[in-house]
Amino acid sequence: MSKWAYNFRQGEADGAASMKELLGGKGAGLAEMARLGLPVPPGFTLTTEVCAYFYAHDKTLPPDLSEELDAALTHLGDVAGHSFDDPDWPLLVSVRSGARASMPGMMDTVLNLGLNDNTVGALAKKCGDERFAFDCYRRFIEMYSSVVLGVAHHEFEEALEQYKERRAIILDAELHADDWRAVVALYKEIVAEHNGVDFPQNPHQQLLGAIKAVLSSWMNHRAIVYRELHNIPADWGTAVNVQAMVFGNMDDNSATGVAFSRNPSTGARELYGEFLINAQGEDVVAGMRTPHPISEAARQRASDAPSLEATMPAIFAEFKAYAEKLEAHYRDMQDMEFTVERGKLWMLQTRGGKRTAPAALKIAVDMANEGLITRNDALMRIDPASLDQLLHPTVDPEIGHAVLTSGLPASPGAACGEIVFGPEEAMELAGQGRKVILVRVETSPEDIGGMHAAQAILTARGGMTSHAAVVARGMGKPCVTAAVGLRIDYEDQSFSVAGRRFRKGDMITVDGSSGQVIAGAVKMRRPELTGEFAVLMGWADAARRLKVRANAETPMDAKAARKFGAEGIGLARTEHMFFEGERIVAVREMILADSADGRKAALAKLLPMQRDDFKELFEIMAGLPVTIRLLDPPLHEFLPHSDAEIAHVATAMGADPSKLRKRAQELSEFNPMLGFRGVRLGVAFPEIVDMQARAIFEAAIAAAAETGEPAQIEIMVPLVFSKAELDLIKRRVDETAQAIEAETGLRSSYHIGAMIELPRATLRAGDIALTAEFLSFGTNDLTQTALGISRDDAGAFLGAYVARGVLPADPFVTIDQEGVGELVAIGCERARKARPNVALGVCGEHGGDPASIAFFEEVGVDYVSCSPFRVPIARLAAARAALRRKG
Ligand code: PEP
Ligand code: MG
Repeated sequence: MSKWAYNFRQGEADGAASMKELLGGKGAGLAEMARLGLPVPPGFTLTTEVCAYFYAHDKTLPPDLSEELDAALTHLGDVAGHSFDDPDWPLLVSVRSGARASMPGMMDTVLNLGLNDNTVGALAKKCGDERFAFDCYRRFIEMYSSVVLGVAHHEFEEALEQYKERRAIILDAELHADDWRAVVALYKEIVAEHNGVDFPQNPHQQLLGAIKAVLSSWMNHRAIVYRELHNIPADWGTAVNVQAMVFGNMDDNSATGVAFSRNPSTGARELYGEFLINAQGEDVVAGMRTPHPISEAARQRASDAPSLEATMPAIFAEFKAYAEKLEAHYRDMQDMEFTVERGKLWMLQTRGGKRTAPAALKIAVDMANEGLITRNDALMRIDPASLDQLLHPTVDPEIGHAVLTSGLPASPGAACGEIVFGPEEAMELAGQGRKVILVRVETSPEDIGGMHAAQAILTARGGMTSHAAVVARGMGKPCVTAAVGLRIDYEDQSFSVAGRRFRKGDMITVDGSSGQVIAGAVKMRRPELTGEFAVLMGWADAARRLKVRANAETPMDAKAARKFGAEGIGLARTEHMFFEGERIVAVREMILADSADGRKAALAKLLPMQRDDFKELFEIMAGLPVTIRLLDPPLHEFLPHSDAEIAHVATAMGADPSKLRKRAQELSEFNPMLGFRGVRLGVAFPEIVDMQARAIFEAAIAAAAETGEPAQIEIMVPLVFSKAELDLIKRRVDETAQAIEAETGLRSSYHIGAMIELPRATLRAGDIALTAEFLSFGTNDLTQTALGISRDDAGAFLGAYVARGVLPADPFVTIDQEGVGELVAIGCERARKARPNVALGVCGEHGGDPASIAFFEEVGVDYVSCSPFRVPIARLAAARAALRRKG
């Protein structure tokens, strides 16, 4: 028989931190805090197995649950010293969801459960505050009715507004006990009318209703969307935490807050958080009131509002000690919730805190330096993909710009875009490829899709822990909250700030690192990769086996690659050197020439361009290998299409445009990706190979003269499927090398290799490796040809394949291990058998994808090569893969 309920109280608990799967993150955290002796209000957690049962049995609860529930309630009553039926001091509980992974605000919660027409009076007497008791009761009716009974929130809000209007009252604070009593009566009428029965008075019945509603909220729309965005499996389910209520809204000696044991934006080692006096937990995160800082240091930096440290020094000291204890215990930065009820501190939650990428990096490096974790732990704590955030642009500080307003720097990075005011619009415009900034008074879970689509988020209200701030940090989007003086008019689709009005579609820049909002689009700057970043990268380099190179052909990319720590160029796509200006005309001449002489004339124009480009690459990469791939132009990317383009090439060649058009039509292909490209070009027109080889060797000689170091030349032949193709090309390259040696007396050493991009090539890798000194898997084409899915046309249906679970991920992003991966493994094995010291690399897009890198580590390739900005990601991913393999 399953155990459904796990009790906890200060000093002891049935559960523990390790039981997240069963108790959810919140339940496991509460159990662990209780075990550590922290002041946790007593309660119990219903396990995720209850949730599994609920969904497997038509949304019903396990029959034997009621017995355990009664026992847990009795236990809770004993510990708390009172029960639901206590006439003097009724037990009130909160009922909260809590899944294995944090899903902030996505599921439902019910507070103040246990209140009814009798207990409200007892509560009033016990705390000596009738107004407070009836305010609690109306909040409970409102929350319970909307969550459990399905009555729309706005019905209560409207009733309250009408009541206030009738009495000419503006603020809730002006309502007295009698007013709240009258509002309670109005609310109960709404429920009875809507539901056909009266508001449930029996606390046990209330509890069962709340438990079912919380379980049901696992499948509400926003939870489903959140899970999809964060890859959280639906079968994890949620636990349900039932806990004695403590009230942060009882009086001015009460408060509620959230805090991080280190700064979640910067990673600085300081208690960082916010609180509100006389408020309930939801008030802090909902962003309705702007909360106050916890510490004096933070207040001095950002706020006039008195800090917790100044207002309640003893509570602050006690909380700080708990925060330190929890951080040391978990060996990680903690995100904690607390409530102060009439001067007594209660801990309500602890969990690993969400943090920005820069903060994650600083915290991991600091904790390793503090001896709290090892260097390898630090590496395992940083998600390689999140490093992308560190490469986010920031507003260039050198350039003066007019700051419109400032708010809280809730999530770092800067972005510009068009103003939009709604999530749907953000998604629609982003779908058209436009960059938008989502501007909201505050965000709520309904805005998630729009936040995802936006470049950045700007809100008028909310704090550092508001929905907008937390979600934006999780998404790695720049975000500024509580922008001073920002007045949004949704109806007019505009906002005003600093005396200016901005409309939908106007450009603004949001800098989530400084909190500044700037009119128009501002010049950005890439960050320096120093400090903790460099330290962590150093640790990664020490831990990894895989080498990391870059795919680069322009001087700018090559320089960036070196800056990011690339250990050479793994793929220079020579055809990409021809995309611009007059160069493409010369390439077109070469392609369209109908004789060897015509081709040679065009190649003679290309030779100096290639030589200059290669020389620059060799110089930038001095001391490191540079893999130059011979031409691989899919013809459709290079053929002239328009009349103007044809006329331009015709003039350059001195040819008749109509003849040229005919030639272009002859060359056009049904399947360019499977057409006249790669090595096929060199087989048919070897003079192209001659030109490229000459450009490479002459450039290498010239570069060596400049740098004093011999260029490390690797010549790579694309799209081969046989040794014979490679032999043919190698012969031409060798002949060119000999010719240049005869001309100059200088001999370059070089390696010849093949790209393995076709299934046949993986099978014949043993043969190919007899000629090739290195093999580089072009997993883009290998995926295309192994799955028979065109790289250019996959968009139309691949999304459906992933959404319906036919494929676990887009195979052009993350390697299809079972298929393409096996081909890579076969290729490696056969090549090594034929040539034990053959160098093996991967240069498809997968070379920069962490999940694929983990697979390449397993297969044992020697290096991966990826775009320059992914080099740091690959270095870290390679280190983590090596550590994981070693266990
Ligand atoms: C590949 O096919 O994986 C590759 C790197 O080459 P390209 O993307 O240029 O076809
Ligand atoms: Mg390719």
